[in-house]
Amino acid sequence: MSDTFTALRITDAGDRKTRAEMTEMTLADLPDLPVLVEVSHSTVNYKDGLAVTGKGRIARRLPMTAGIDMAATVVESATEEFAPGDKVILNGWGLSETEQGAYSKFQRVKPEWLLPLPEGFSPEQAMAIGTAGYTAGLCVQALLDWGLDPQGAPILVTGAAGGVGSVATALLARLGYSVTAVTGRPETHDYLSKLGATDFVDRAELSEQGKPLQPERWGGAVDVAGGHTLANVLAQTCYGGAVAACGLAEGPSLPGTVMPHILRSVALLGVDSVMAPKPKRKAAWDLLNKKLDRDLLSTMYAVHGFDELPDLAEKLMANQIQGRVVVNV
Ligand code: NDP
Repeated sequence: MSDTFTALRITDAGDRKTRAEMTEMTLADLPDLPVLVEVSHSTVNYKDGLAVTGKGRIARRLPMTAGIDMAATVVESATEEFAPGDKVILNGWGLSETEQGAYSKFQRVKPEWLLPLPEGFSPEQAMAIGTAGYTAGLCVQALLDWGLDPQGAPILVTGAAGGVGSVATALLARLGYSVTAVTGRPETHDYLSKLGATDFVDRAELSEQGKPLQPERWGGAVDVAGGHTLANVLAQTCYGGAVAACGLAEGPSLPGTVMPHILRSVALLGVDSVMAPKPKRKAAWDLLNKKLDRDLLSTMYAVHGFDELPDLAEKLMANQIQGRVVVNV
């Protein structure tokens, strides 16, 4: 084990701004938590993009090691639950916000944050899925629990060419749903067709204020956008349908009315990945394990070096990344 290693840390740049810096660290710099892990792979999610570029204030204390996702190997464990050599994954649980994160060769973590690496995925594949893909799993599981009928009207996926959207599209198509993809990037239509989307809606069609109730088009939806997009999706959802909402790529507002809910029994299912309890996490990973086609997964991501992290974060924020990225730590 080397004495020093590199971490990508968010530091105070003054004037309420932050800066991301490659920093040399030692094991003594890590928090005093029971499990020491060696991180092999991570990824860049939307929240990581916000944290690293400084476009969003994610870290609640500074300095903070960024990175909300890791695939890792246990090096030392003060609990019986995990032993040296165990392969594990960690998604969320406040990493990069209140807890030191994954963009570091070594990290100390709590055992209750760890899941064994799901059988059937390599560490690289688990990070190709990462929080974005696991959140797609939570959203699709929420729609399945709601009882959405595969024979019913098509399911809409917003931000389809992004991380959550790509995995949601592939999962829903594999489960037998007809998937309509919303994207602002027509050049991704071929990619989305390969994932299983059979129809497309231009992102701009949903981005303006619409009527409270619109013609019924969707049996349900996975929404990563929020804002007018979500309000319009709800207004276009068929009687008795459900929308799993997890994101705010358009914005945090919800400029709609109660009409779809009280006149069409449309359900708005909120989905959080960060503090989701372990049974929900296991169900989502189980769904991904059973239903995510590995060949398709391999078309959804590219692998990058650790030093590319700042650039990848900028590109994600500029909507220049298709699907997912894996980072070799
Ligand atoms: P990505 O950046 O990979 O994808 C976001 C996609 O949203 C883009 O690719 C784009 O898709 C679309 N988009 C961008 N801007 C707009 C806009 N103004 N209006 C509508 N759509 C837009 O991010 P992720 O997939 O990683 O995350 C998506 C969202 O989900 C984020 O808001 C993120 O914070 C949230 N999230 C929430 C989680 C939770 O626990 N609740 C967990 C994970 C993510 P296209 O180019 O196809 O139009």
